[in-house]
Amino acid sequence: MVRRAFGACAPVSLFTLGTMRALESPAQLQAVLEAALEAGINHLETAPAYGPSQRYLGRALRQLGIEPAEMLITSKLLPGCSLQQGQQQLQRTLEQLGRARLDNLAVHGLNTAEHLQWVFSGPGRDLLQWAEEEQLVGQVGFSSHGPNDLIDTAIRSKRFGFASLHLHLLDPARMHLAAQALQQGMGLMAISPADKGGQLWDPPPMLQQACAPIAPLELAYRFLIARGISTLTLGAASPDQLQWAQLLGGADGPLTASEQQALERLNQQRLDNLGDSLCGQCRACLPCPSGVPIPELLRLRNLTIGHGMERHARERYAMVGQAGHWFEQINAAACQGCNQCLPRCPHQLPIPELLADTHQRLASSPRRRLWG
Ligand code: SF4
Ligand code: SF4
Repeated sequence: MVRRAFGACAPVSLFTLGTMRALESPAQLQAVLEAALEAGINHLETAPAYGPSQRYLGRALRQLGIEPAEMLITSKLLPGCSLQQGQQQLQRTLEQLGRARLDNLAVHGLNTAEHLQWVFSGPGRDLLQWAEEEQLVGQVGFSSHGPNDLIDTAIRSKRFGFASLHLHLLDPARMHLAAQALQQGMGLMAISPADKGGQLWDPPPMLQQACAPIAPLELAYRFLIARGISTLTLGAASPDQLQWAQLLGGADGPLTASEQQALERLNQQRLDNLGDSLCGQCRACLPCPSGVPIPELLRLRNLTIGHGMERHARERYAMVGQAGHWFEQINAAACQGCNQCLPRCPHQLPIPELLADTHQRLASSPRRRLWG
């Protein structure tokens, strides 16, 4: 499998094994890890917040006799703890993984201004510095589900060697941040292109039709690979779910003519189906005095009408307000119809009407995120 630079870490494989879906038993994770190794994956991602992931991993690494140089590890640490708590947690991580040193340590969910403050002037600053000085970590980075300006601040700080971001074919709003980070020499990991990127492991017929003969998930992976993203997480629950890593692990060239055409058909499908109600995701309508995240909510409408992705959009919409700072907190029903956003939209979209339509199409019972 092709390997790409990842900040100051040794190069990582195009696919990274995410370990939050193979936690039913130590044997399940061991089988997936073994298959990942066979597929050429040399990088895995875990976190103390993923239940028994680190314990199971440490056990599987020992059982399979995998040396630190064979499998690089990224783990994470939630922001907000004291220096001492963070030190204890990192030491526990190393113990569980059976490693003297972690290749990459990410601040897990750098999502709010308070988190930034924790990193730059609070206990997080001392914690990360301590971990580096003690040579317990190779480099520090961050993952973020937060707003673009916050991610931009984190990248520009030059404090981090890598970032894990939601970068998706059908949600490209952070691609410019990825390009900026790559230009600075940071490593870039795309979080869950298959699942969070639109449940592309089970695409609706309309989406399949636009992408054919290429599978939507293949196109989504190739889109990111061709943009130079260092590595893509693949959260396999069984060895057979690593098939895309095997198929695409060497496919690191630019998009082919056939892939370009599929992308064009995808854009055309969106335009045809949404007509003049397509939200261009430019964000010019913000801020809304009621805090409605207009582009994020209208993106779900775009997916529903544009590509027939109602199941995915409904699930994401049901998470609004249910996951704290990990997801949007206000849904479309909060629109007060004040019309302040209207003159700011370059497409003259009837935003309150579209929000009401979004709510009507997607509202159902609330749903919680996978962990935490
Ligand atoms: S009309 Fe609705 S979405 Fe637009 S600014 Fe007012 S409250 Fe926000
Ligand atoms: S300004 Fe209009 S097109 Fe741009 S994100 Fe807002 S609603 Fe969408």
